Amino acid sequence: MERLVEIETFDVEEETTELTLRPDAWSEYIGQEQIKKNLGVFIEASKKRQEALDHVLFFGPPGLGKTTLALIIANEMNANIKVTAAPMIEKSGDLAAILTNLEEGDILFIDEIHRLSPAVEEILYSSMEDFRIDIIIGSGPAAQTVKIDLPRFTLIGATTRAGMLSNPLRDRFGMSFRMQFYSSKELARIVIQASKKLDKEIIHEASMEIAKRSRGTPRIALRLLRRVRDFADVADEGDIKHSRTKYALDELGINSHGFDEMDLRLLRLLVSAKGRAMGLSTLAAALSEDEGTVEDVLEPYLLANGYLERTSKGRRATRATYEILNVAIPVDEGTLF
Ligand code: ADP
Repeated sequence: MERLVEIETFDVEEETTELTLRPDAWSEYIGQEQIKKNLGVFIEASKKRQEALDHVLFFGPPGLGKTTLALIIANEMNANIKVTAAPMIEKSGDLAAILTNLEEGDILFIDEIHRLSPAVEEILYSSMEDFRIDIIIGSGPAAQTVKIDLPRFTLIGATTRAGMLSNPLRDRFGMSFRMQFYSSKELARIVIQASKKLDKEIIHEASMEIAKRSRGTPRIALRLLRRVRDFADVADEGDIKHSRTKYALDELGINSHGFDEMDLRLLRLLVSAKGRAMGLSTLAAALSEDEGTVEDVLEPYLLANGYLERTSKGRRATRATYEILNVAIPVDEGTLF
């Protein structure tokens, strides 16, 4: 079955609707209040000084609105934005080509910035700090270094793994912001706003139902909205009702805590360890996932909501996990919590 609460797969339908549903102004960007407030000040200050905005780093799990924020910043700054991702920049020449094509005040957005190769990262250092790159032409004794001045641009980096960013790179960002999971109320507002854009009204209770099952993530909420809309369309319902939403989400196997099959497998594994901690590599192997996916995609939501804890020995289920899975807390370990 398609994994609906999956965050990193894209399909064409998703990409197209994401584009139509993507907010392009602050007023449509719901939640992340602290980030909006701070960014608003920095944007206004740099506009007043007629300077490019300082480099910005966003970090947090996928689907929480990092790319969207970058696009809103570009809009607010009245700047052109070039959107790319680290895996697309293979050689230092690729980055040099992108940088030398920028104009004064332009924004360069690099997604998954932790995945840049060391050689490419090296070029980024001088371009971020001194707005200059040194390119080596030729090789051996005849090699020459050519210095190229760059226009003042703003780099916006996004990463799911702040821990994997090298210190020199992290230090070169003037601002960095950690994205938070969204509350159900915020997600419900996002769903209602999107349903208006899709020309299919949704009643409040139905939007809350989707919100509660979306792992705190707008991308998932919007994906569930589209699936629920399909059910409503097939049933010839003008607007999306609560009962239809519950039926559709149950049919799709979306759990009322927002967990999907993968979350449940992970939690069941932890619970089966009967209070003992499990190492990341063991968990990943048992789930047939790579460690990065477990750490970046699966764990953050479970950690933030208290269903999993990290100890020096590995990951452990919490009391809440045992309760939710209806499993008795191991007698010996009862005192652990
Ligand atoms: P990320 O870059 O963090 O993976 P995106 O910026 O691509 O996430 O956001 C995923 C989708 O969720 C986008 O289609 C966007 O429309 C929607 N979205 C994200 N954050 C918000 C928000 N705060 N308000 C409204 N919609 C949002």
